[in-house]
Amino acid sequence: MSLAPSPQFGAALVWCRRDLRCDDHAALYHALRAARKVHVAFVFDTEILEPLPRRDRRVEFIRESLVDLDRQLRELGARHGQPGAGLIVRHGRARDEIPRLAAALQVQAVYANADHEPAAIERDAQVRGALAEAGIAFHAGKDQTIFERDELLTGAGRPYAVFTPYKNCWLKKLEPFFVRAYPIERHAAALAPKPAAEPADVPTLAEIGFEPTNLAELAIEPGSPGALAALDDFLDERIDRYETARNFPSVKGPSYLSVHLRFGTVSIRRLAGEAWNRMQTSTTGSRGAEVWLSELIWRDFYFQVLHHHPRVVTESFKPEYDRIRFEKGKAADALFAAWCEGRTGYPLIDAAMAQINQTGYMHNRLRMVTASFLCKDLGIDWRRGEAYFAERLNDYDLSANNGGWQWAASSGCDAQPYFRIFNPVSQSEKFDAEGRFIRRYLPQLARLPDELLHAPWTARPVDLAAAGVELGRDYPAPIVDHDAARLKTLERYAVVKTGR
Ligand code: FAD
Repeated sequence: MSLAPSPQFGAALVWCRRDLRCDDHAALYHALRAARKVHVAFVFDTEILEPLPRRDRRVEFIRESLVDLDRQLRELGARHGQPGAGLIVRHGRARDEIPRLAAALQVQAVYANADHEPAAIERDAQVRGALAEAGIAFHAGKDQTIFERDELLTGAGRPYAVFTPYKNCWLKKLEPFFVRAYPIERHAAALAPKPAAEPADVPTLAEIGFEPTNLAELAIEPGSPGALAALDDFLDERIDRYETARNFPSVKGPSYLSVHLRFGTVSIRRLAGEAWNRMQTSTTGSRGAEVWLSELIWRDFYFQVLHHHPRVVTESFKPEYDRIRFEKGKAADALFAAWCEGRTGYPLIDAAMAQINQTGYMHNRLRMVTASFLCKDLGIDWRRGEAYFAERLNDYDLSANNGGWQWAASSGCDAQPYFRIFNPVSQSEKFDAEGRFIRRYLPQLARLPDELLHAPWTARPVDLAAAGVELGRDYPAPIVDHDAARLKTLERYAVVKTGR
Protein backbone atom coordinates (compact mmCIF):
# COMPACT_ATOMS: atom_id res chain seq x y z
CA MET A 1 0.00 0.00 0.00
CA SER A 2 1.16 3.53 -0.58
CA LEU A 3 1.65 5.93 2.24
CA ALA A 4 2.03 8.90 -0.09
CA PRO A 5 0.18 11.96 1.20
CA SER A 6 -3.42 11.82 0.06
CA PRO A 7 -5.74 14.80 -0.21
CA GLN A 8 -6.87 16.12 3.16
CA PHE A 9 -9.87 14.34 4.60
CA GLY A 10 -11.80 14.67 7.83
CA ALA A 11 -10.57 12.34 10.51
CA ALA A 12 -8.12 9.47 11.00
CA LEU A 13 -7.27 7.08 13.78
CA VAL A 14 -3.69 5.99 14.47
CA TRP A 15 -3.58 2.53 16.04
CA CYS A 16 -0.36 2.09 18.03
CA ARG A 17 0.85 -1.45 18.65
CA ARG A 18 4.61 -1.93 18.97
CA ASP A 19 5.47 1.72 18.30
CA LEU A 20 4.85 3.47 21.62
CA ARG A 21 6.36 6.86 20.86
CA CYS A 22 5.47 10.19 19.23
CA ASP A 23 8.84 10.89 17.71
CA ASP A 24 9.69 9.59 14.21
CA HIS A 25 6.49 7.55 13.96
CA ALA A 26 5.61 6.69 10.35
CA ALA A 27 1.87 6.00 10.80
CA LEU A 28 1.31 9.09 12.95
CA TYR A 29 3.21 11.23 10.45
CA HIS A 30 1.19 9.99 7.47
CA ALA A 31 -2.12 10.38 9.33
CA LEU A 32 -1.27 13.90 10.47
CA ARG A 33 -0.46 14.89 6.89
CA ALA A 34 -3.56 13.29 5.44
CA ALA A 35 -6.35 14.19 7.88
CA ARG A 36 -7.56 17.33 9.59
CA LYS A 37 -8.27 15.52 12.89
CA VAL A 38 -6.14 12.65 14.14
CA HIS A 39 -6.96 10.43 17.12
CA VAL A 40 -4.37 8.08 18.61
CA ALA A 41 -5.32 4.81 20.31
CA PHE A 42 -3.85 1.68 21.87
CA VAL A 43 -5.74 -1.53 22.66
CA PHE A 44 -4.72 -3.85 25.49
CA ASP A 45 -5.58 -6.85 23.35
CA THR A 46 -7.16 -9.57 25.45
CA GLU A 47 -6.21 -12.17 22.83
CA ILE A 48 -2.55 -11.43 23.58
CA LEU A 49 -2.92 -10.76 27.30
CA GLU A 50 -5.07 -13.67 28.38
CA PRO A 51 -2.45 -16.44 28.07
CA LEU A 52 0.21 -14.39 29.93
CA PRO A 53 1.09 -14.82 33.60
CA ARG A 54 -0.54 -12.15 35.77
CA ARG A 55 2.90 -10.74 36.57
CA ASP A 56 4.55 -9.92 33.27
CA ARG A 57 7.24 -7.27 32.96
CA ARG A 58 6.29 -6.61 29.35
CA VAL A 59 2.74 -5.66 30.25
CA GLU A 60 4.04 -3.33 32.92
CA PHE A 61 6.60 -1.89 30.48
CA ILE A 62 3.82 -1.27 27.94
CA ARG A 63 1.54 0.31 30.53
CA GLU A 64 4.25 2.68 31.77
CA SER A 65 5.20 3.53 28.18
CA LEU A 66 1.56 4.37 27.41
CA VAL A 67 1.45 6.76 30.35
CA ASP A 68 4.43 8.50 28.80
CA LEU A 69 2.94 8.42 25.29
CA ASP A 70 -0.24 9.99 26.62
CA ARG A 71 1.82 12.72 28.30
CA GLN A 72 3.74 13.34 25.08
CA LEU A 73 0.56 13.63 23.04
CA ARG A 74 -0.95 16.07 25.54
CA GLU A 75 2.19 18.23 25.50
CA LEU A 76 2.46 18.06 21.72
CA GLY A 77 -1.21 19.05 21.38
CA ALA A 78 -0.81 21.87 23.90
CA ARG A 79 2.14 23.30 21.95
CA HIS A 80 -0.01 23.36 18.80
CA GLY A 81 -3.31 24.69 20.05
CA GLN A 82 -4.87 21.28 20.81
CA PRO A 83 -4.74 21.04 24.59
CA GLY A 84 -7.28 18.21 24.72
CA ALA A 85 -5.13 15.74 22.76
CA GLY A 86 -4.23 12.47 24.41
CA LEU A 87 -4.12 8.72 24.03
CA ILE A 88 -7.32 6.66 23.86
CA VAL A 89 -6.80 3.29 25.56
CA ARG A 90 -9.16 0.33 25.18
CA HIS A 91 -9.13 -3.12 26.78
CA GLY A 92 -10.71 -5.88 24.68
CA ARG A 93 -10.17 -7.81 21.46
CA ALA A 94 -8.33 -5.46 19.11
CA ARG A 95 -10.13 -6.96 16.13
CA ASP A 96 -13.42 -5.76 17.64
CA GLU A 97 -12.25 -2.61 19.40
CA ILE A 98 -10.56 -0.90 16.45
CA PRO A 99 -13.49 -1.11 14.00
CA ARG A 100 -15.82 -0.06 16.85
CA LEU A 101 -13.67 2.92 17.83
CA ALA A 102 -13.13 3.95 14.19
CA ALA A 103 -16.90 3.98 13.64
CA ALA A 104 -17.57 5.89 16.87
CA LEU A 105 -14.96 8.52 16.00
CA GLN A 106 -16.32 8.70 12.44
CA VAL A 107 -12.86 8.46 10.88
CA GLN A 108 -12.28 7.81 7.20
CA ALA A 109 -9.03 5.91 7.70
CA VAL A 110 -7.07 3.92 10.27
CA TYR A 111 -3.27 4.13 10.12
CA ALA A 112 -0.90 1.62 11.70
CA ASN A 113 2.70 0.56 11.38
CA ALA A 114 2.85 -2.91 9.83
CA ASP A 115 3.51 -5.82 12.15
CA HIS A 116 5.13 -8.81 10.46
CA GLU A 117 4.31 -11.61 12.86
CA PRO A 118 1.87 -14.18 11.44
CA ALA A 119 -0.72 -13.68 14.21
CA ALA A 120 -0.62 -9.91 13.70
CA ILE A 121 -0.97 -10.30 9.92
CA GLU A 122 -4.05 -12.46 10.44
CA ARG A 123 -5.54 -10.01 12.97
CA ASP A 124 -4.86 -7.04 10.71
CA ALA A 125 -6.50 -8.78 7.76
CA GLN A 126 -9.63 -9.20 9.84
CA VAL A 127 -9.56 -5.59 11.03
CA ARG A 128 -9.02 -4.42 7.46
CA GLY A 129 -12.07 -6.44 6.36
CA ALA A 130 -14.29 -5.09 9.15
CA LEU A 131 -13.19 -1.52 8.44
CA ALA A 132 -13.75 -1.96 4.70
CA GLU A 133 -17.33 -3.06 5.37
CA ALA A 134 -17.85 0.27 7.13
CA GLY A 135 -16.17 2.15 4.27
CA ILE A 136 -13.08 2.95 6.32
CA ALA A 137 -9.61 2.55 4.82
CA PHE A 138 -6.78 0.74 6.62
CA HIS A 139 -3.18 1.78 5.91
CA ALA A 140 -0.34 -0.27 7.37
CA GLY A 141 3.15 0.71 6.22
CA LYS A 142 6.79 0.23 7.09
CA ASP A 143 8.18 1.49 10.38
CA GLN A 144 9.73 -1.40 12.34
CA THR A 145 12.67 -2.04 10.06
CA ILE A 146 14.93 -0.09 7.72
CA PHE A 147 14.24 -2.51 4.86
CA GLU A 148 11.46 -5.05 4.68
CA ARG A 149 9.70 -7.61 2.51
CA ASP A 150 11.13 -7.52 -1.05
CA GLU A 151 13.14 -4.34 -0.71
CA LEU A 152 16.43 -6.24 -0.69
CA LEU A 153 16.72 -9.19 -3.05
CA THR A 154 19.66 -11.00 -4.63
CA GLY A 155 20.64 -10.34 -8.25
CA ALA A 156 18.41 -13.32 -9.13
CA GLY A 157 15.46 -11.65 -7.45
CA ARG A 158 15.37 -14.03 -4.48
CA PRO A 159 15.43 -13.36 -0.74
CA TYR A 160 18.88 -13.48 0.79
CA ALA A 161 19.76 -16.66 2.67
CA VAL A 162 23.26 -15.56 3.72
CA PHE A 163 23.83 -12.63 6.06
CA THR A 164 27.01 -11.07 4.66
CA PRO A 165 25.73 -10.38 1.12
CA TYR A 166 22.43 -9.22 2.67
CA LYS A 167 24.36 -6.82 4.88
CA ASN A 168 26.44 -5.54 1.94
CA CYS A 169 23.28 -4.90 -0.05
CA TRP A 170 21.65 -3.24 3.00
CA LEU A 171 24.62 -0.92 3.50
CA LYS A 172 24.76 -0.08 -0.19
CA LYS A 173 21.11 0.89 -0.20
CA LEU A 174 21.27 2.83 3.04
CA GLU A 175 21.06 6.45 2.12
CA PRO A 176 20.10 9.44 4.24
CA PHE A 177 16.70 9.13 2.55
CA PHE A 178 16.10 5.80 4.23
CA VAL A 179 17.09 6.88 7.71
CA ARG A 180 15.32 10.20 7.60
CA ALA A 181 12.97 10.81 10.47
CA TYR A 182 9.23 11.35 10.20
CA PRO A 183 8.92 14.80 11.80
CA ILE A 184 5.73 14.92 13.85
CA GLU A 185 6.06 18.34 15.45
CA ARG A 186 5.36 20.43 12.36
CA HIS A 187 2.07 18.60 11.66
CA ALA A 188 0.86 18.27 15.24
CA ALA A 189 -1.90 20.87 14.91
CA ALA A 190 -4.00 18.07 13.40
CA LEU A 191 -4.09 16.13 16.69
CA ALA A 192 -7.72 15.76 17.77
CA PRO A 193 -8.98 16.34 21.28
CA LYS A 194 -9.70 13.14 23.15
CA PRO A 195 -13.50 12.56 23.24
CA ALA A 196 -15.00 13.64 26.55
CA ALA A 197 -16.42 10.16 27.20
CA GLU A 198 -12.94 8.57 27.22
CA PRO A 199 -11.30 7.98 30.62
CA ALA A 200 -8.70 10.66 31.33
CA ASP A 201 -5.96 8.24 32.38
CA VAL A 202 -4.32 5.08 31.10
CA PRO A 203 -5.83 2.12 33.01
CA THR A 204 -3.84 0.79 35.91
CA LEU A 205 -2.30 -2.68 35.82
CA ALA A 206 -5.01 -3.91 38.19
CA GLU A 207 -7.72 -2.55 35.87
CA ILE A 208 -6.46 -4.79 33.08
CA GLY A 209 -6.05 -7.75 35.42
CA PHE A 210 -2.27 -7.67 36.05
CA GLU A 211 0.01 -7.25 39.05
CA PRO A 212 3.22 -5.24 39.45
CA THR A 213 6.54 -6.98 38.72
CA ASN A 214 10.10 -6.12 39.73
CA LEU A 215 10.48 -3.86 36.66
CA ALA A 216 10.98 -0.77 38.80
CA GLU A 217 13.93 -2.41 40.59
CA LEU A 218 15.68 -3.26 37.33
CA ALA A 219 17.60 -0.63 35.43
CA ILE A 220 14.89 -0.53 32.75
CA GLU A 221 13.14 2.79 32.33
CA PRO A 222 10.07 2.44 30.07
CA GLY A 223 8.87 4.90 27.44
CA SER A 224 10.78 7.17 25.07
CA PRO A 225 12.61 8.93 27.92
CA GLY A 226 13.95 5.52 29.00
CA ALA A 227 14.98 4.68 25.43
CA LEU A 228 16.73 8.00 24.92
CA ALA A 229 18.52 7.77 28.27
CA ALA A 230 19.77 4.27 27.35
CA LEU A 231 20.79 5.51 23.90
CA ASP A 232 22.64 8.55 25.27
CA ASP A 233 24.43 6.39 27.80
CA PHE A 234 25.51 3.99 25.05
CA LEU A 235 26.53 6.71 22.60
CA ASP A 236 28.47 8.59 25.24
CA GLU A 237 31.44 6.27 24.73
CA ARG A 238 30.36 2.65 25.16
CA ILE A 239 29.56 2.32 21.45
CA ASP A 240 33.25 2.84 20.71
CA ARG A 241 34.19 -0.17 22.83
CA TYR A 242 31.24 -2.28 21.66
CA GLU A 243 33.20 -4.68 19.45
CA THR A 244 35.05 -6.23 22.37
CA ALA A 245 32.96 -5.28 25.40
CA ARG A 246 29.78 -6.85 24.00
CA ASN A 247 31.17 -10.34 24.60
CA PHE A 248 31.56 -10.18 28.37
CA PRO A 249 28.34 -10.60 30.34
CA SER A 250 29.68 -8.92 33.48
CA VAL A 251 30.56 -5.77 31.53
CA LYS A 252 28.10 -3.05 30.57
CA GLY A 253 28.95 -3.59 26.92
CA PRO A 254 25.78 -3.71 24.78
CA SER A 255 23.13 -1.01 24.44
CA TYR A 256 20.24 -2.68 26.33
CA LEU A 257 17.94 -1.10 23.76
CA SER A 258 16.26 -4.33 22.66
CA VAL A 259 13.16 -3.89 24.83
CA HIS A 260 12.78 -0.36 23.45
CA LEU A 261 13.08 -1.62 19.89
CA ARG A 262 10.55 -4.32 20.70
CA PHE A 263 7.92 -1.86 21.86
CA GLY A 264 8.99 0.97 19.58
CA THR A 265 9.79 3.49 22.28
CA VAL A 266 12.63 4.48 19.96
CA SER A 267 12.68 4.19 16.17
CA ILE A 268 15.04 1.90 14.31
CA ARG A 269 15.80 4.80 11.95
CA ARG A 270 17.07 6.88 14.85
CA LEU A 271 19.37 4.06 15.99
CA ALA A 272 20.67 3.20 12.52
CA GLY A 273 21.19 6.91 11.87
CA GLU A 274 23.18 7.38 15.10
CA ALA A 275 25.40 4.39 14.27
CA TRP A 276 25.88 5.61 10.72
CA ASN A 277 26.80 9.12 11.83
CA ARG A 278 29.25 7.76 14.36
CA MET A 279 30.90 5.69 11.65
CA GLN A 280 31.31 8.76 9.46
CA THR A 281 32.55 11.15 12.13
CA SER A 282 34.51 9.18 14.68
CA THR A 283 38.13 8.35 14.03
CA THR A 284 38.55 5.98 16.95
CA GLY A 285 35.12 4.57 17.53
CA SER A 286 33.95 3.80 14.05
CA ARG A 287 34.63 0.07 14.37
CA GLY A 288 32.37 -0.23 17.42
CA ALA A 289 29.57 1.64 15.64
CA GLU A 290 30.06 -0.50 12.56
CA VAL A 291 29.72 -3.74 14.54
CA TRP A 292 26.68 -2.39 16.37
CA LEU A 293 25.05 -1.37 13.09
CA SER A 294 25.70 -4.89 11.91
CA GLU A 295 23.62 -6.20 14.83
CA LEU A 296 20.76 -3.90 13.80
CA ILE A 297 21.11 -5.39 10.30
CA TRP A 298 20.79 -8.91 11.78
CA ARG A 299 17.47 -7.69 13.20
CA ASP A 300 16.25 -6.67 9.72
CA PHE A 301 17.67 -9.92 8.32
CA TYR A 302 15.58 -12.08 10.65
CA PHE A 303 12.47 -9.99 9.93
CA GLN A 304 12.90 -10.72 6.22
CA VAL A 305 13.51 -14.43 6.92
CA LEU A 306 10.19 -14.56 8.77
CA HIS A 307 8.44 -12.63 6.01
CA HIS A 308 9.68 -14.87 3.20
CA HIS A 309 9.59 -18.13 5.15
CA PRO A 310 6.79 -17.96 7.74
CA ARG A 311 7.07 -21.76 8.09
CA VAL A 312 10.15 -21.17 10.33
CA VAL A 313 7.73 -20.49 13.17
CA THR A 314 7.23 -24.25 13.47
CA GLU A 315 9.76 -25.81 11.08
CA SER A 316 13.49 -25.78 10.61
CA PHE A 317 14.62 -23.30 7.94
CA LYS A 318 16.72 -26.17 6.54
CA PRO A 319 14.12 -28.95 6.16
CA GLU A 320 16.66 -31.78 6.63
CA TYR A 321 17.11 -30.62 10.25
CA ASP A 322 13.58 -31.72 11.01
CA ARG A 323 14.84 -35.30 10.64
CA ILE A 324 16.77 -34.95 13.89
CA ARG A 325 15.31 -36.97 16.72
CA PHE A 326 15.52 -34.91 19.87
CA GLU A 327 15.11 -36.45 23.32
CA LYS A 328 11.56 -36.88 24.54
CA GLY A 329 9.79 -38.31 27.57
CA LYS A 330 10.20 -37.94 31.31
CA ALA A 331 13.99 -37.91 31.38
CA ALA A 332 14.06 -35.16 28.74
CA ASP A 333 11.38 -33.23 30.65
CA ALA A 334 13.52 -33.38 33.78
CA LEU A 335 16.59 -32.11 31.89
CA PHE A 336 14.51 -29.33 30.37
CA ALA A 337 13.18 -28.30 33.80
CA ALA A 338 16.74 -28.23 35.17
CA TRP A 339 17.81 -25.98 32.28
CA CYS A 340 14.84 -23.61 32.77
CA GLU A 341 15.46 -23.36 36.49
CA GLY A 342 19.25 -23.01 36.26
CA ARG A 343 20.09 -26.38 37.87
CA THR A 344 22.37 -27.91 35.23
CA GLY A 345 25.52 -27.86 37.35
CA TYR A 346 27.32 -25.71 34.74
CA PRO A 347 27.72 -22.33 36.47
CA LEU A 348 27.71 -20.14 33.35
CA ILE A 349 24.51 -21.78 32.09
CA ASP A 350 22.83 -21.59 35.48
CA ALA A 351 23.83 -17.95 36.05
CA ALA A 352 22.49 -17.07 32.60
CA MET A 353 19.17 -18.77 33.33
CA ALA A 354 19.03 -16.93 36.67
CA GLN A 355 19.53 -13.69 34.75
CA ILE A 356 16.61 -14.31 32.41
CA ASN A 357 14.39 -15.59 35.23
CA GLN A 358 15.12 -12.68 37.56
CA THR A 359 15.31 -9.82 35.05
CA GLY A 360 13.78 -10.84 31.70
CA TYR A 361 17.08 -9.99 29.98
CA MET A 362 19.87 -12.32 28.93
CA HIS A 363 23.19 -11.23 27.48
CA ASN A 364 23.59 -12.14 23.80
CA ARG A 365 26.60 -14.45 24.30
CA LEU A 366 24.70 -16.29 26.99
CA ARG A 367 21.65 -16.64 24.75
CA MET A 368 23.93 -18.40 22.26
CA VAL A 369 25.61 -20.58 24.87
CA THR A 370 22.44 -21.60 26.77
CA ALA A 371 20.59 -22.29 23.51
CA SER A 372 23.44 -24.45 22.26
CA PHE A 373 23.55 -26.24 25.62
CA LEU A 374 19.86 -27.12 25.43
CA CYS A 375 19.99 -28.52 21.89
CA LYS A 376 23.48 -29.92 21.77
CA ASP A 377 24.32 -30.93 25.34
CA LEU A 378 20.86 -31.96 26.50
CA GLY A 379 19.57 -33.06 23.07
CA ILE A 380 16.30 -31.16 23.47
CA ASP A 381 14.34 -29.68 20.59
CA TRP A 382 15.19 -25.98 20.03
CA ARG A 383 11.47 -25.20 19.87
CA ARG A 384 11.09 -25.88 23.59
CA GLY A 385 13.86 -23.43 24.44
CA GLU A 386 12.50 -20.90 21.98
CA ALA A 387 9.11 -21.07 23.71
CA TYR A 388 10.72 -20.63 27.13
CA PHE A 389 12.62 -17.54 25.98
CA ALA A 390 9.41 -16.21 24.39
CA GLU A 391 7.72 -16.44 27.76
CA ARG A 392 10.57 -14.82 29.69
CA LEU A 393 12.34 -12.23 27.53
CA ASN A 394 11.30 -8.59 27.92
CA ASP A 395 12.55 -8.03 24.37
CA TYR A 396 10.92 -11.17 22.97
CA ASP A 397 10.57 -10.79 19.24
CA LEU A 398 9.41 -13.73 17.19
CA SER A 399 11.80 -13.13 14.28
CA ALA A 400 14.99 -12.54 16.33
CA ASN A 401 14.18 -15.26 18.85
CA ASN A 402 13.40 -17.83 16.19
CA GLY A 403 16.47 -16.74 14.21
CA GLY A 404 18.68 -16.96 17.31
CA TRP A 405 17.41 -20.40 18.29
CA GLN A 406 17.68 -21.81 14.79
CA TRP A 407 21.17 -20.33 14.56
CA ALA A 408 22.21 -22.12 17.76
CA ALA A 409 20.51 -25.36 16.69
CA SER A 410 22.21 -25.04 13.26
CA SER A 411 18.85 -25.50 11.50
CA GLY A 412 18.42 -21.83 10.58
CA CYS A 413 19.12 -19.40 7.78
CA ASP A 414 22.90 -18.81 7.78
CA ALA A 415 23.26 -20.69 11.06
CA GLN A 416 26.44 -21.97 12.64
CA PRO A 417 27.48 -25.43 11.36
CA TYR A 418 26.05 -28.34 13.37
CA PHE A 419 29.47 -29.60 14.43
CA ARG A 420 30.21 -26.29 16.14
CA ILE A 421 29.26 -27.02 19.73
CA PHE A 422 29.96 -24.48 22.45
CA ASN A 423 31.87 -25.87 25.40
CA PRO A 424 30.10 -24.38 28.44
CA VAL A 425 33.26 -24.50 30.55
CA SER A 426 35.65 -22.91 28.09
CA GLN A 427 33.03 -20.26 27.22
CA SER A 428 32.86 -19.51 30.93
CA GLU A 429 36.65 -19.35 31.30
CA LYS A 430 36.94 -17.11 28.27
CA PHE A 431 34.07 -14.70 28.77
CA ASP A 432 33.68 -14.63 32.54
CA ALA A 433 37.27 -15.41 33.51
CA GLU A 434 37.06 -13.71 36.91
CA GLY A 435 33.60 -15.13 37.55
CA ARG A 436 32.02 -11.73 38.18
CA PHE A 437 28.85 -12.62 36.31
CA ILE A 438 28.59 -16.08 37.84
CA ARG A 439 29.10 -14.78 41.36
CA ARG A 440 26.39 -12.14 40.84
CA TYR A 441 23.77 -14.74 40.02
CA LEU A 442 25.07 -17.77 41.95
CA PRO A 443 26.13 -16.32 45.32
CA GLN A 444 26.38 -19.83 46.76
CA LEU A 445 29.54 -20.31 44.64
CA ALA A 446 31.00 -16.90 45.40
CA ARG A 447 33.81 -18.18 47.62
CA LEU A 448 35.15 -20.70 45.11
CA PRO A 449 38.45 -19.54 43.61
CA ASP A 450 38.26 -18.36 39.97
CA GLU A 451 40.00 -21.43 38.59
CA LEU A 452 37.41 -23.78 40.16
CA LEU A 453 34.34 -21.65 39.62
CA HIS A 454 33.74 -22.65 36.00
CA ALA A 455 33.60 -26.41 36.74
CA PRO A 456 33.03 -26.94 40.49
CA TRP A 457 32.81 -30.72 40.11
CA THR A 458 36.52 -30.79 39.30
CA ALA A 459 37.38 -29.23 42.68
CA ARG A 460 38.83 -31.37 45.49
CA PRO A 461 36.43 -31.94 48.38
CA VAL A 462 38.75 -29.93 50.61
CA ASP A 463 38.52 -26.90 48.27
CA LEU A 464 34.76 -27.19 48.03
CA ALA A 465 34.52 -27.41 51.82
CA ALA A 466 36.76 -24.35 52.21
CA ALA A 467 34.37 -22.40 49.96
CA GLY A 468 31.34 -23.68 51.88
CA VAL A 469 30.02 -25.63 48.88
CA GLU A 470 28.65 -29.14 49.01
CA LEU A 471 27.76 -30.46 45.57
CA GLY A 472 24.22 -31.80 45.54
CA ARG A 473 23.28 -29.62 48.52
CA ASP A 474 24.35 -26.05 47.68
CA TYR A 475 24.83 -26.53 43.98
CA PRO A 476 24.05 -29.45 41.62
CA ALA A 477 26.56 -31.83 40.12
CA PRO A 478 26.54 -31.55 36.28
CA ILE A 479 23.45 -33.16 34.75
CA VAL A 480 25.36 -34.16 31.65
CA ASP A 481 28.94 -34.85 30.66
CA HIS A 482 29.80 -32.34 27.95
CA ASP A 483 32.31 -34.49 26.06
CA ALA A 484 29.96 -37.47 25.91
CA ALA A 485 27.03 -35.21 24.98
CA ARG A 486 29.07 -33.68 22.19
CA LEU A 487 29.72 -37.08 20.60
CA LYS A 488 26.05 -38.02 20.96
CA THR A 489 25.02 -34.78 19.27
CA LEU A 490 27.37 -35.36 16.35
CA GLU A 491 25.72 -38.77 15.89
CA ARG A 492 22.23 -37.33 16.32
CA TYR A 493 22.87 -34.58 13.79
CA ALA A 494 24.44 -36.97 11.26
CA VAL A 495 20.96 -37.57 9.80
CA VAL A 496 21.14 -34.14 8.19
CA LYS A 497 23.87 -35.54 5.95
CA THR A 498 22.84 -39.15 5.49
CA GLY A 499 19.09 -38.68 5.36
CA ARG A 500 18.57 -41.71 7.59
P1 FAD B 1 22.95 -4.85 21.42
O1 FAD B 1 24.14 -5.73 21.37
O2 FAD B 1 23.12 -3.47 21.89
O3 FAD B 1 22.36 -4.85 19.94
C1 FAD B 1 21.54 -3.78 19.45
C2 FAD B 1 20.28 -4.32 18.85
O4 FAD B 1 20.57 -5.10 17.70
C3 FAD B 1 19.49 -5.23 19.76
O5 FAD B 1 18.69 -4.48 20.64
C4 FAD B 1 18.67 -6.01 18.75
O6 FAD B 1 17.53 -5.30 18.31
C5 FAD B 1 19.62 -6.15 17.57
N1 FAD B 1 20.32 -7.42 17.65
C6 FAD B 1 21.47 -7.70 18.29
N2 FAD B 1 21.84 -8.97 18.08
C7 FAD B 1 20.88 -9.51 17.30
C8 FAD B 1 20.69 -10.81 16.75
N3 FAD B 1 21.56 -11.81 16.92
N4 FAD B 1 19.57 -11.02 16.02
C9 FAD B 1 18.68 -10.04 15.80
N5 FAD B 1 18.81 -8.79 16.30
C10 FAD B 1 19.90 -8.54 17.03
N6 FAD B 1 16.80 -10.32 20.25
C11 FAD B 1 15.60 -9.75 20.44
O7 FAD B 1 15.47 -8.53 20.25
N7 FAD B 1 14.52 -10.49 20.82
C12 FAD B 1 14.61 -11.83 21.04
O8 FAD B 1 13.60 -12.46 21.36
C13 FAD B 1 15.87 -12.44 20.89
N8 FAD B 1 16.03 -13.78 21.15
C14 FAD B 1 17.26 -14.34 20.96
C15 FAD B 1 17.41 -15.73 21.17
C16 FAD B 1 18.63 -16.36 20.97
C17 FAD B 1 18.76 -17.84 21.21
C18 FAD B 1 19.73 -15.59 20.55
C19 FAD B 1 21.07 -16.24 20.31
C20 FAD B 1 19.61 -14.23 20.33
C21 FAD B 1 18.38 -13.59 20.53
N9 FAD B 1 18.21 -12.20 20.31
C22 FAD B 1 16.98 -11.63 20.47
C23 FAD B 1 19.32 -11.38 19.79
C24 FAD B 1 20.21 -10.69 20.86
O9 FAD B 1 20.63 -11.61 21.82
C25 FAD B 1 19.49 -9.53 21.55
O10 FAD B 1 18.95 -8.66 20.59
C26 FAD B 1 20.46 -8.71 22.40
O11 FAD B 1 21.08 -9.52 23.37
C27 FAD B 1 19.67 -7.58 23.09
O12 FAD B 1 20.51 -6.83 23.90
P2 FAD B 1 20.97 -5.36 23.51
O13 FAD B 1 19.81 -4.53 23.10
O14 FAD B 1 21.81 -4.86 24.61
O15 FAD B 1 21.84 -5.66 22.21
